[in-house]
Amino acid sequence: MEASAATLSRIGLAGLAVMGQNLALNVAEKGFPISVYNRTTSKVDETVDRARQEGALPLFGQYNPRDFVLSIQRPRSVIILVKAGAPVDQTIAALSEHMESGDCIIDGGNEWYENTERRIQEVSNRGILYLGMGVSGGEDGARNGPSLMPGGSYEAYSNVKDILMKVAAQVEDGPCVTYIGEGGSGNFVKMVHNGIEYGDMQLISEAYDVLKHVGGLSNSELSEIFSEWNRGELESFLIEITADIFKVKDEAGDGYLVDKILDKTGMKGTGKWTVQQEAGLHDGVVSVKSGIDKKRLIDDVRQALYASKICSYAQGMNLLRSKSDEKGWNLNLGELARIWKGGCIIRAVFLDRIKKAYQRNPKLASLIVDPEFAKEMVQRQAAWRRVVGLAISAGISTPGMCASLAYFDTYRRARLPANLVQAQRDLFGAHTYERIDRPGAFHTEWTKLARNSTAGVGSLH
Ligand code: NAP
Repeated sequence: MEASAATLSRIGLAGLAVMGQNLALNVAEKGFPISVYNRTTSKVDETVDRARQEGALPLFGQYNPRDFVLSIQRPRSVIILVKAGAPVDQTIAALSEHMESGDCIIDGGNEWYENTERRIQEVSNRGILYLGMGVSGGEDGARNGPSLMPGGSYEAYSNVKDILMKVAAQVEDGPCVTYIGEGGSGNFVKMVHNGIEYGDMQLISEAYDVLKHVGGLSNSELSEIFSEWNRGELESFLIEITADIFKVKDEAGDGYLVDKILDKTGMKGTGKWTVQQEAGLHDGVVSVKSGIDKKRLIDDVRQALYASKICSYAQGMNLLRSKSDEKGWNLNLGELARIWKGGCIIRAVFLDRIKKAYQRNPKLASLIVDPEFAKEMVQRQAAWRRVVGLAISAGISTPGMCASLAYFDTYRRARLPANLVQAQRDLFGAHTYERIDRPGAFHTEWTKLARNSTAGVGSLH
């Protein structure tokens, strides 16, 4: 579309790589006229062409920072979607030169939250408002409805709220966007969201490893199992795509594509051979197959995956809460679970239950002490321990499931061995300790007392 001098765009977007191009088309499709700009101008033409092909969407290409900024109605809102770090600073410098007090910059990239806090300060000197907005859902989310996590200036959020509400993924309890909080909270929440996402993927991979190498499941069986799981409590985007991955045959040879993919995080070459020689193994799996009841293993793995997932989300949510307390962001954890229900990679039915747990008790110390989740964990712990035990016996590393189980046990046990650590610290560093039976800080001359004492020693001999 040709930009008309008389009609200014409602919003602007600079940075037209995968995310920017798709988000701009999404905004235009929702009926908000948008100006677009990219340092390399061929991407401007590409985006304008796409907007034309997709039905004359109200998207206007601009070829320099000044024309771009001046083509937007005031107070101007400009989304930036460029590589995080220095490119964001450079883009802000190029655009803000033409911006005025009351205008707003919205960085939609995966930025370190402290960079956002620095930029909020820097642009505020000129009265420019700032939002750091997490955008999740990749290319498809950006085009068809992402989960949006805007944090920073509330005034800036209010200026674009109507646009964000339409552009975001829509679920039954509303659009997947909410004002997150002040400062760099939007970026911090997006960072934790991504951590949870990778945690989910790791746990799913571990479930796959156990089913394949202990249970001996074929790819078509794995696909069936994941499809079945996707009809129950594990229903989620990641489980659904995992079922699909096991169906894809290798077009370049025999067998399935997933088996041909390099396990990039695995140890390769001489290191791997050394360990295999040492263990006297061929493929690194110790045979435990005799006596394995496949049906029961599958059900156990499902339960172990679900319980581990609860622990992983519990840790993510507690990380958010600690940062929120430290920074005074006042994060609403239930609302965060809600805006992750659609658009993003971790979208799952399960998030609705997390939302409800925090609605029941906004001060919940951990998800795993919520009565409903606690009950589910207890019901699943026997299966979970069997899976982790089997994996350990088979020599299959399941760090995610093991760490989650350790986290659960830390909560579950009335008393942890940190009493001994405190005693050690007090012995060598006079760090003092607290007692279980009276208040205050105590110090003991441990070595002197131990040397003077012979109590108990004789009984060992
Ligand atoms: P990207 O590959 O991270 O960045 C490419 C864009 O940055 C291009 O528009 C490029 O312009 C611009 N750029 C790089 N250096 C620049 C500089 N010095 N000055 C001005 N512009 C510069 O793009 P992306 O994958 O679309 O991601 C954009 C942001 O969204 C990133 O922060 C990313 O982490 C985040 N994100 C990505 C995804 C995803 O699935 N890709 C999902 C969520 C969030 P030129 O064309 O001129 O080189």
